[in-house]
Amino acid sequence: MSQCTRCGGKPFHTRRYSGETLCAGCFSDSILEKTRRTVSKYKMISPGDRIAVAVSGGKDSLSLLRVLAQLYLPRRNEVVAISVDEGVAGYRDEALRHARTLVDELQVEQVVVSYKEMFGFSLDEALDWKEERSVSSCSFCGVFRRRAIDEAAARAKADVVATAHNLDDYVQTFMMNLMHGDVARLGWLEPKYADDSFPVRRVKPFMEIYEEEVALYAYQNGIPFQSVSCPYMHEGLRSEVRDYLNMMEANHPGMKNVLLRSSLDVISKYALTSEKNSTPCSTCGKPSSSGLCNVCRMKAEVREHVNIQRTPRSAGGG
Ligand code: SF4
Ligand code: ZN
Repeated sequence: MSQCTRCGGKPFHTRRYSGETLCAGCFSDSILEKTRRTVSKYKMISPGDRIAVAVSGGKDSLSLLRVLAQLYLPRRNEVVAISVDEGVAGYRDEALRHARTLVDELQVEQVVVSYKEMFGFSLDEALDWKEERSVSSCSFCGVFRRRAIDEAAARAKADVVATAHNLDDYVQTFMMNLMHGDVARLGWLEPKYADDSFPVRRVKPFMEIYEEEVALYAYQNGIPFQSVSCPYMHEGLRSEVRDYLNMMEANHPGMKNVLLRSSLDVISKYALTSEKNSTPCSTCGKPSSSGLCNVCRMKAEVREHVNIQRTPRSAGGG
């Protein structure tokens, strides 16, 4: 490896897609710059916005929290971490500990909501009912997770929610939606997304940064993150798509960047026609497509199959 292209220092990382070699310091600076450019290009964050960062405790979300705190606290934006405790014994506890450590270091607020508190069951309890379910654990969990993030963002009084999806996540999801024939969900990939069911916009400030570079940033900045995967994660198609895209990138450096641009082009044309939820859910009042939202439908199914006590409080329906 040659010397740092910017300062002549000791090489740390070479970007095959651009040919640039960077020392550790210039590399970290470049991640901040890229994030700031992405935020500004898509007008993701406005002056004075209270920014909620969805923090799971993995390398991507902890890096995002650190980067946004560095970029936006000096601009007088408020930054708050929001975390969801799904209730997975031995897994989420460690992740939340890592999140707490960084939150304390950065001296930002944190709002934690749990499935148990909101829906009356932990993910462990809900997934006891496994055999007859038609959807995967992650699709099932994801429905509750989105509602929990909405609730946490509301409690945090956020103007915008930032999630840590990186370039790899983005193009994988795009390809998977095409492969599932699920074009109605492409609108969710808009860089700045809001809809009737969640008017607080969601943004993805890392969407133009390779996953590998986010991991290097976390490593280089000594961010301790959870390395163990969720025991319910079954990646199936996603890991095949990931392997394929990694192979394409190795053979054709920059291919993922090209795919990102193509996806954005398709999404910008498609988003105008994508389906909107407009009927209030008869149980919780949130917008739905059929009069009963997915959260309330799935909660009812869980209660039917698992012996779970009803909670007195209803956060999100039922
Ligand atoms: Fe939920 Fe899947 Fe994430 Fe586990 S990996 S917490 S099941 S979305
Ligand atoms: Zn509902």
